[in-house]
Amino acid sequence: MAARFSGVLQLTELDDFIAPSQECIKPVKVDKKAGKAAARIRIEADGSYFQVNQAAAAHEQKLVVVSVSPQSRASLAARCKLGLLETAQKLTTFLKGLGVHHVFDTTFSRNFSLLESQQEFVRRFHKQAEDKKALPMLASACPGWICYAEKTHGSFIIPHISTTKSPQQVMGSLVKGYFAEQQHLPPDRIYHVTVMPCYDKKLEASRPDFFNQEYQTRDVDCVITTGEVLKLLEQEGVSLSDVDPAPLDTMLGRAAEELSSHGGGGSGGYLEHIFRHAARELFGIHAASIHYKPLKNKDFQEVTLERDGEVLLQFALAYGFRNIQNLVQKLKRGKCPYHYVEVMACPSGCLNGGGQIKLEGESSKEELQQVERLYESLRAEIPEENQAVRELYEHWLGGWGSERALQVLHTQYHAVERASSALSIKW
Ligand code: SF4
Repeated sequence: MAARFSGVLQLTELDDFIAPSQECIKPVKVDKKAGKAAARIRIEADGSYFQVNQAAAAHEQKLVVVSVSPQSRASLAARCKLGLLETAQKLTTFLKGLGVHHVFDTTFSRNFSLLESQQEFVRRFHKQAEDKKALPMLASACPGWICYAEKTHGSFIIPHISTTKSPQQVMGSLVKGYFAEQQHLPPDRIYHVTVMPCYDKKLEASRPDFFNQEYQTRDVDCVITTGEVLKLLEQEGVSLSDVDPAPLDTMLGRAAEELSSHGGGGSGGYLEHIFRHAARELFGIHAASIHYKPLKNKDFQEVTLERDGEVLLQFALAYGFRNIQNLVQKLKRGKCPYHYVEVMACPSGCLNGGGQIKLEGESSKEELQQVERLYESLRAEIPEENQAVRELYEHWLGGWGSERALQVLHTQYHAVERASSALSIKW
């Protein structure tokens, strides 16, 4: 079961996650005869599923929303030899043919994650004199890293982890909160599926922190990996190249004509966004270009802001288990010089996630480069300038830094007591 989770998870205890099924969506055979709707499945809380008949389905039909990650789209585009926009449009058609009502892009929710992370960093920077654990702030978007930190270093490391929700879970809050309100539906009448580059995102979605007790519903009901989407296409006998494109949905109801992304690499660009924001807010410096200095390897790099020889900010990215372990050791010895670290469990980050598609005939290096090239081909947007994001902050969240924004867009972590077991590995 653990084989396809990120390396960090594979190396920790292997048997104690209440994992939702790896194949948590059962691709259902669609009868393509005219007039027949797609088959419907019901997924129970324990992960079992069954097909419900049409009459029952009509009675209990939910609005089905699928949110696709930009990393998954890049992987599918590379595999199908299509552009990113085409891939998004054709995937929308395919999913809607299966009965999905709305298809969104988690680049939208990532704007909120980036903005909240930026603000959280500045708050922590101001608090560093009275709170020794305010810095370094460690990234929170990777569930592989979060599970490892909670289980292996618990209360020592948790205060350092940013409380900002990942793009997947912000999307969960937007879909079951804002979007449900717009549709005049209670959150449990929406079934929300995400398409993600790794299996670890299934664990994230299943955390009790993201379960709505009042409505007995999860913010994200089901996570499928990019590879599972490909399997679904294959099982349906559909080649994405042959599918007609459909207009892209947005949460505010306006059709999107183009896709955008965020600068700063395939794991979301947290380091760069926080760095630029902090340089401006804390020191009045406009950091036009960002220079990465590789340390031990390309998955451990540093970025520094200096003025007159004085180091003002020192950030790092640490990807993959080896570098994470190194970082944690530095922290434990009180020798971590960083203010912020973008921590990701997968070597090379999310574009190389365990749920991505393996390209036929390509070496893994070429394959990754191809996906990276595609991913970086989009216009990089600036979260502060996204009009729809501003509108939601203003009208739904009560403004920047409001209590409601803190409540909706942040989460918490829990140290896991380690039971001694033969499978435990001493770190
Ligand atoms: Fe998933 Fe990205 Fe973390 Fe890999 S680095 S486990 S793809 S979130």
